[in-house]
Amino acid sequence: MSTEGDEPVKTICPYCGVGCGIKVNQGDDPGDVSFMPWGEAPVNEGRVCIKGGAATQVVDHEDRLTEPLIKEDGEFREATWEEAYSRIVSEMERIRDENDPDAMGFFGSSKTMNEENYLLQKIARRYGTNNVDNCTRMCHASTVWALRRSLGAGAMTNSMVDLEESADVFWIQGANPGEQHPIANSQYFRQAVLEGATVIQVDPHANKTTRSFKIGETDRHMHLQVNPGADIPLLNIVLKTILERHEEEPDAGWIDEAFIDERTEGFDHLKETLEDFDKEAAAEEAGVPLEDIELAAEKYAMANNAAIFTGMGMSQHTCGVDNVQNEINLALITGNLGKPGTGVNPLRGQNNVQGTSDVGAMPNVLPGYQPVNDDEARGSVEDVWGFEVPDEPGLTNVEISHEAGHSVKGLYVMGENPIMSEPDGNEVEERLKSLEFMVAQDIFMTETAEFADVVLPATTWAERGGTVTNTDRRVQRMRGAEMVHENTKHDLDILMEVGSRLFSEDEFRFDDVEAVFEELREVCPIYHGMTYDALGETGIQWPCYEEGDQGDQYLYEDSFDTESGLGHIEGVRHQPPAEVPDEEYPLILTTARLEEHYNTGTMSRRSPTLMRQHPENFVDVHPNDAEEYGIEDGDMVTLRSRRGEIEVKAQVTEDIKEGVVWTTPHFAAASANRLTNDVLDERAKIPEYKAAAADIAVTVSD
Ligand code: SF4
Repeated sequence: MSTEGDEPVKTICPYCGVGCGIKVNQGDDPGDVSFMPWGEAPVNEGRVCIKGGAATQVVDHEDRLTEPLIKEDGEFREATWEEAYSRIVSEMERIRDENDPDAMGFFGSSKTMNEENYLLQKIARRYGTNNVDNCTRMCHASTVWALRRSLGAGAMTNSMVDLEESADVFWIQGANPGEQHPIANSQYFRQAVLEGATVIQVDPHANKTTRSFKIGETDRHMHLQVNPGADIPLLNIVLKTILERHEEEPDAGWIDEAFIDERTEGFDHLKETLEDFDKEAAAEEAGVPLEDIELAAEKYAMANNAAIFTGMGMSQHTCGVDNVQNEINLALITGNLGKPGTGVNPLRGQNNVQGTSDVGAMPNVLPGYQPVNDDEARGSVEDVWGFEVPDEPGLTNVEISHEAGHSVKGLYVMGENPIMSEPDGNEVEERLKSLEFMVAQDIFMTETAEFADVVLPATTWAERGGTVTNTDRRVQRMRGAEMVHENTKHDLDILMEVGSRLFSEDEFRFDDVEAVFEELREVCPIYHGMTYDALGETGIQWPCYEEGDQGDQYLYEDSFDTESGLGHIEGVRHQPPAEVPDEEYPLILTTARLEEHYNTGTMSRRSPTLMRQHPENFVDVHPNDAEEYGIEDGDMVTLRSRRGEIEVKAQVTEDIKEGVVWTTPHFAAASANRLTNDVLDERAKIPEYKAAAADIAVTVSD
């Protein structure tokens, strides 16, 4: 892999989607790597958060998988790579012969690179199935669905740079950049705020974003502490307020009539939807005073440029698509799209969650979001690949888990941990146990890998090269340190070997990672103009259709990428969460992540620096609820839902709304996902992580 002699290599932080550049210094031995700042890095100019600074701590960790493992009589034994490959190939062939190709599922990973995910989805499709997905399903599938349908592309419409320079109002709903995108928050948002921008935060939980902008201490910024699952009523109040005020003051600029006339469709549908809408009742539903929402509406509508940031508080609901559609409605009626400092901007979680989707590791689209059921698009990819691709969308990752042991007999898991990351984890564990065969390719023995039949030891982010795509569509190169840990292999080399053995060397053997990228860009129009040379050290933001294109900082200047070229407005109505509180489970459970940890904690729980900050899970409980349930701050409590229970420490705080409890998915034995509900948004198939009915009690010791 790429090295630069004795110089530290320039690469990208493996954690969040901000995509900060860092340097890795190779010591004398394999795994002996250390962090160095990269002062000229394009996104972060040398700054990193606590996770980025601690990222190298997992590379030489004693828990690293070092040899392939094969399970026999319920126990793992060390095996050679040859044995492991033979077992994988023979089992995958058997499953296809005894069933059909759809009896296999493939999980890509946002922790791995574009080239690796590209090759995994190519293997799945060569095998004959579109049952391939990645964890974007868990975080922003609904956002991608709504953005693609209504604007054209499933990604941030704007860029951190143009937002910092031009936005007057940041409307941050269901996102917490202070915790989850610390460098975006401290470098871009804070700078804009120092220069006068206003922040409106919509979230059931006061958090680091609230505190970083001192929201609530002055009249300038606002925190609308919405009830979980009541985002549509809140945004409908905003929309109706703007329409009402426009009626009263047609020339005051509440809406952008010219933009609506020339660049959008569906405005009448929105007006009809809101005609009989009752703002008072909706404010009650949202749990926020009506006058506060009206004031926030005024701040957004009267800004020269207002940017919406959207996160998993919006997307992870059964109404996730409609939640995001309502944000799109707000941006479109006020003309806040197609220019700097505006837009609807999903803050992506993992360092390559955008790229993993871009390169086609999804059941319904090929690289570049080309639908598998579009004959022309599929044909153009088939021409390059030399084989036929199934023309029906496959199963999503939660659907694959639901079918495990039924129609799905085998699973190939690269860098994912569904027992921890999917909702209703206890049930996922049972289903995965019933598979006939599972491969797990990872750097550590995860909770999921424990149930695999073959475990393959992969190299870490610091040991290999490739490309990743950050939250504002910037494709950047990662470069690997010179030596790799013990008998580990790069994900790409493993996939090349598996693909070559299953099918042919011609289709799956590449000279190096750059050669894979060269094939990727042939079949992925939005990456077509990129080469490794052109990416250089700054990267390029897609779309980049032809060599020489510099990419786009913001999208849709002249038209939207929809069939009509118009932005699609569509009114939506409130849909309560699938589970609402009742007598048995009287509280709403909502979940989110911590700055110091990363999703299922596979890496962050092995970092001494990060564990010192947050060594265990906890639950935030409002003081009134604490009093009702007899809970003191620091008590161990049992948190229960219809799907299971966990024991965690209670943190009594007014940060959370009364009637709501808040916890995290990072810690194995006490993960929030033992409790969450696996009901899906019917279009995007994203689970409802953000609202479930729950109960709480002080833990009674035996
Ligand atoms: Fe890494 Fe994100 Fe922190 Fe940047 S903000 S250092 S990308 S975790």
